[in-house]
Amino acid sequence: MLTNKRFDLMVRDAFIIDGTRAARFRGDIGVRAGMIAGIGDLSGARGEVELDGAGRIAAPGFIDAHAHDDRLLLSEPDMAPKASQGVTTVITGNCGISLACTPPRGAMTPPLDLLDGEGSWFRYPSFAAYREALAAKPAAVNAACLLGHTTLRCAVMDDLQRAAGPGEIARMRDIAREALAAGAIGISTGTAYAPAAAAPTEELIEVCRPLTEYRGLYATHMRNEDDRVMESIEETCRIGRTLGVPVVISHHKTVGQANHGRSVETLALIRRRMSGQEVGLDCYPYIASSTVLREDRVEQSSRIIVTWSKSHPGLAGLDLEEIARRLGVTKAVAVERIKPAGAIYFMLDERDVQRILQFDETMIGSDGLPHDVKPHPRLWGTFPRVLGRYSRELKLFSLETAVYKMTGLPAMKFRLAGRGVLKEGYHADITIFDADTVSDSADFERSTLAARGIDTVIVNGEIVWRGGGPTGKRPGRVLLNRGGRVGQNTQDVP
Ligand SMILES: [Zn+2]
Repeated sequence: MLTNKRFDLMVRDAFIIDGTRAARFRGDIGVRAGMIAGIGDLSGARGEVELDGAGRIAAPGFIDAHAHDDRLLLSEPDMAPKASQGVTTVITGNCGISLACTPPRGAMTPPLDLLDGEGSWFRYPSFAAYREALAAKPAAVNAACLLGHTTLRCAVMDDLQRAAGPGEIARMRDIAREALAAGAIGISTGTAYAPAAAAPTEELIEVCRPLTEYRGLYATHMRNEDDRVMESIEETCRIGRTLGVPVVISHHKTVGQANHGRSVETLALIRRRMSGQEVGLDCYPYIASSTVLREDRVEQSSRIIVTWSKSHPGLAGLDLEEIARRLGVTKAVAVERIKPAGAIYFMLDERDVQRILQFDETMIGSDGLPHDVKPHPRLWGTFPRVLGRYSRELKLFSLETAVYKMTGLPAMKFRLAGRGVLKEGYHADITIFDADTVSDSADFERSTLAARGIDTVIVNGEIVWRGGGPTGKRPGRVLLNRGGRVGQNTQDVP
């Protein structure tokens, strides 16, 4: 037992869930200089600030394994949609889309417009420039950033409807190497989307070559998540094996009624591949997906809600069916009229969602789209929904396992040094919540409500969220890859 010790901050008498899946225990946490300096019975010690954790859970801050927060970190550094859920680190730059490295076009090509429809935020000529902007004006939470292959394509190619030629591949590879040298944690691809759909596997491999040397990872919104989902998993794993790097299958799902139930097959395949290579996957806890508005999704979805439209901003939040009725046209014609736009698609099966969430290697990622006018509720609700609905109410897994899926597991998969676990010597990213009441408030009607039951959120030893609002503190760090370890500096725990 420590006596007469002083800490900058203490959490008193909480149930500690440490992020390793170990059973909770009652104890105190002492924080000094942004690090966890004591954990257990610290009754003899004092803190400059003391937080009463009685009856509450103290867990590692949540890691959003799949975010599109490249711009939000800069434009709304309180990061309220994430901090309010207990998230302390975001993995951003997913689905082939990153702000880093400026595409030359003015009007943004979908899906890059998910980050910024006007294009003015695409102002960072290199990953290093983006990283510096983040470091100069820190956000409330930490960020580890991927470089997007679609962004690279838009930057170097004049025609996106074809495979890149050797010169274009070489230019993309050079930019990728430079970004990885500057600390990008890996490269993301989004071959499901038009600007990258024409990229063959060989292009992806050749552009991503520098991942091997820098020990970065390959994350992907796969080419296909419906009828050819198995082939897509195989393509992803082949890329990982060829490059000798870990892969992350983003927002895993099986789309469209014909493919409902196929998560049995996909998870079995993922499990098999995991025995020979490093594979990760993440999932959001909803039966509806969300992205740009696409005609090919109309038939596959039982319901579509429009989240934004550049030409018809007043339609955001309405069902496509209602919009078609108002315009007096078919849904397909309505899609053409209101594009560019975003949408929510009801096209997943609850049983698949539960099966994927329950798979022991599945991480939690929000895939939240923070710049949509009426966003999918996953932006504000993902983590509390997993804790409340899927763990407490439906009992898919224990609270310890739920916490692991959003802390220790993603820290391991993304190789975040000294994070994701509550342990002495680790960074003091801590979320304090009420296990009995934690739940998502955002739904498809009112989609930007903050969750319930999240009391206090601490990032690098500083309180960023408390009493239902941001504190204004911005201690977030940019976490950089250095030879396969992702951290803020060389003192990070190995
Ligand atoms: Zn995606």
